[in-house]
Amino acid sequence: MLIDNTTTKPLVGVSRCLLGDAVRYDGKSKACTIVLEKLSDIFTLTPICPEVEAGLSVPRPPVQLTGSIENPRLTGRDDPSIDVTTIMQQYCDTKPAELKQLSGFIFKSRSPSCGLNSTPVFINDRCVDESSTGIFARSLCTAYPDLPVIEDSDLENQALLNPFIRLILKVNRSL
Ligand code: SF4
Repeated sequence: MLIDNTTTKPLVGVSRCLLGDAVRYDGKSKACTIVLEKLSDIFTLTPICPEVEAGLSVPRPPVQLTGSIENPRLTGRDDPSIDVTTIMQQYCDTKPAELKQLSGFIFKSRSPSCGLNSTPVFINDRCVDESSTGIFARSLCTAYPDLPVIEDSDLENQALLNPFIRLILKVNRSL
């Protein structure tokens, strides 16, 4: 459910592990204090875990971006024969259309699904880029190029966080 009729706070998507939900590949969370204690007061947060929503299990084998910086695949970090590119791409092809009412998104950095400008890409076991974008983050940002977005690693930077908050309050699509 994306609409909260009891409030006019903007609806903002968030990588679900940042809310403290144990959905990561290792069965753990990555709770983010700023999200939980500050941003949850300002926004109505909509948790999304692309890997779990696409049908992957918890725990699951870790995956990483591989093979190409422009058009990477999602393959197993420890077992390269694992390839979840197709299942994740199918999810990413359809999910953004369900998220029209979001006024912003807070992504988990470095994730092959959710990282914004921080995800490593590997070619032949060598890291060739550390500023790529996860497959879901890329799909959402392509679908909504004007959507205010940030990743958790930038939340402590007031020069980035404050404009992010201001922009969301200005474009509030849930009103
Ligand atoms: S980074 Fe994204 S895909 Fe990975 S556990 Fe968090 S919400 Fe799920």
